[in-house]
Formats: sequence, C-alpha cells, structure tokens
Amino acid sequence: MANIVLFGPPGAGKGTQAEILKEKYNLVHISTGDVFRYNIKNETELGNLAKSYMDKGQLVPDEVTIAMLQSEVEKNEDAKGFIFDGFPRTEAQAVALKNFLETKDQDVDAMVALEVEDEVLVERLLERGKTSGRKDDANEEVVRNRIKVYYNETAILKDYYEKQDKYYGVDGVGSIEEITDRLSSVFNHFID
Ligand code: AMP
Repeated sequence: MANIVLFGPPGAGKGTQAEILKEKYNLVHISTGDVFRYNIKNETELGNLAKSYMDKGQLVPDEVTIAMLQSEVEKNEDAKGFIFDGFPRTEAQAVALKNFLETKDQDVDAMVALEVEDEVLVERLLERGKTSGRKDDANEEVVRNRIKVYYNETAILKDYYEKQDKYYGVDGVGSIEEITDRLSSVFNHFID
C-alpha cells in the first residue's frame, strides 16, 4: 500500500501528472478539486457550498473537505494505494489525513512536490482558463489569489512533511514526459 501526496501550487501540473502516474502504478487518484467540481456540476449541497469558495479562489472549509476526502477513500477499499492531489492543503487537513490513515494501519509515505515559479503558474493557469471552462482559471485576480492562498495556508506543509523526512521536491518545468520521469524516480521508492 502506498499513499502519496502530490503537492505543489495551482498550475504546477499535479492533475496532468496524477492521471499518468495512476495508470503507471495502478493507484487511485483522488483530486479534491475534481470532486468539488463534479458536485458543482450536479448541483449537490456540497457543490453549492464549495462553489462559493472556489469562485473566489479561497479554500473550502476543512471540516467539509476532510469529510469528503474520507468518504472518497472509503469508496476504494481495494485500492493498492492512493495519489492525493490537492489534499491536504492545510495543517489541519494533514493531521486529519494522518489520523484517518492510522485507523487503517497506514500513513502518508511521501509528499512529492512539483516546484514551479509563480509567473509561470499565472501564465499556465490563464492559458488553461481559455479552454478548461474553469471560472477560477479565467480571471487573473482569482488566479493570483489562489497562489497567495497557497503560500499563506498550504506551503507550510512542506515543513510538516520535511520534519518527517517525507518531502521530495521535483522540478516542475519541462515536458510532460520529463516531469513524469522525475516523479517516477521518487514513486519507484515506494511502489513495487
Ligand atoms: P484544484 O483543482 O486543486 O486547483 O482546486 C480548485 C479549488 O477547489 C481550490 O481553489 C479550492 O477552492 C478547492 N479545493 C480543492 N482542494 C481543496 C482542499 N484540500 N481544501 C480546501 N479547498 C480545496
């Protein structure tokens, strides 16, 4: 069983790489952003709540996000392992994930972070916004707010996992294949 947190600021390429790596290593990919977007599309109660935060580039409250993540994990009892994409984003979420996995005699094995400069992120997100249909990618103010929220609330998780010797930084600039290779060299340590 391998539990890997794929980390990095918005636009670092987590979603693209997770889609490739889940096939390569036969892992379940859980993207909290995707689950929220699915709920928004289907106009569920969770979707309506999440939308009010996501449209402004703010984080959805921890309690709601943690409960949603746990239920996604529970849906995949037979998984060989997970790639967590976009979760945890706060220390409270990291602690909740640890405690939750502990109930299953598991832990986070590694945080693998895609490192990309801010101005490249803004450029990538605005470019993606032209075709993704994502409201939070289309507006520069919201894009910059998401990066600010990342630094204010999420970036501290690097320290959190570094203290446990679980942090692995990877250069997130290059071709998709090059970046997959860099990530794979870390994944290979944790997955047979
Ligand atoms: P993402 O698809 O990961 O870029 O997430 C898009 C948006 O979904 C974020 O800007 C947040 O509003 C919300 N979101 C996704 N994951 C989380 C999380 N772990 N905690 C709080 N909000 C989240």
